[in-house]
Amino acid sequence: MFENKNSSKTSISELGEFGLIDHLTHDIKVGRSSTVKGIGDDAAVLSADGKNQKVISTDLLVEGVHFDLGYMPLKHLGYKAVMVNLSDIYAMNATATHITVSIAVSNRFPVEALDELYDGIKTAAKIYNVDVIGGDTSSSTSGLIISITAIGEVKEKMVVYRDGAKENDLLVVTGDLGAAYLGLQVLEREKQVFQANPKAQPELENYTYLVERQLKPEARKDIPKLLEELDVLPTAMIDISDGLSSEVIHICKNSGVGCNLYEDKIPLDPQVISTCEEFNLDSTTIALSGGEDYELLFTIKTEDFPKIKANPHLTVIGHMTNEKEGMHLITRANTKIPLIARGWNSLAEE
Ligand code: ADP
Ligand code: MG
Repeated sequence: MFENKNSSKTSISELGEFGLIDHLTHDIKVGRSSTVKGIGDDAAVLSADGKNQKVISTDLLVEGVHFDLGYMPLKHLGYKAVMVNLSDIYAMNATATHITVSIAVSNRFPVEALDELYDGIKTAAKIYNVDVIGGDTSSSTSGLIISITAIGEVKEKMVVYRDGAKENDLLVVTGDLGAAYLGLQVLEREKQVFQANPKAQPELENYTYLVERQLKPEARKDIPKLLEELDVLPTAMIDISDGLSSEVIHICKNSGVGCNLYEDKIPLDPQVISTCEEFNLDSTTIALSGGEDYELLFTIKTEDFPKIKANPHLTVIGHMTNEKEGMHLITRANTKIPLIARGWNSLAEE
């Protein structure tokens, strides 16, 4: 049906995920006055009544690409699918209010399995105080596909984009990084052990935090509220879904600035450090490229530093520089190496 024998074919992998999005969308223009922000941020922004705006974000989770039901219980999957979306709403400094949930399922799933999935979705909606207001249901020829759209609201003056960072601003991250990726490595290893010997008991007690971060992430609902209490309005913000370096690069490119990121400042949980030693992995690489942390990364004016410095949720990990200086990691040995994006890029060839 799509054959056109005369035209040359470009492989999707040549473009990668971001290249493909850009290729498909670069000539999309928005025309309605209510569209404040279209494609290009964690969420779109629409003007609503008076000084309020609505933010909207959507994400797709595909079995075999984003999750493996071999170790992901369906209840956790439902919960995580909601978190992934709410994280993008919080990254706009907004409050999440509503979600829609669409699923495509094959008849390999009994109703009881979908009940579990929805158990997780409903639990998340309750805890995060969002209403489930619709969706769509379809059959699928193979796996499970979940698409969630999240809607939020924010005062016009409080919305934060990816493109507002300025030279000398401080770069701040919430929580700690790298644990979700390591959790996945631990689960993969246990799955292989189990496949070799179905009687083997999973050994997860040394990795509880890592596994929890992978299977039951929490979106940072608390951060927009905390920032308001601290009277800090970030100049730019993004959520960390693809790994720290990829998100730093997004902020830099969108804002037209450079960055120095300090290796020794990157917040790591002790379990991340010990597990990296055990697996012979470099913890900095894991934090930079691991992904799925669902923390928030933002920039603030230097004068706001006293307001955040004592806060246990927030860590200053670098500062923004002139665009010409480029984007760098300053290592513990005080060498400067260029930051590269090696986040989850499921469409790029390894
Ligand atoms: P995130 O990592 O926050 O989910 P993405 O990298 O998926 O963001 O998307 C970047 C931007 O491109 C967003 O504004 C998103 O809405 C938009 N986008 C992604 N895929 C498409 C598509 N197929 N068509 C139109 N816009 C898209
Ligand atoms: Mg995002």
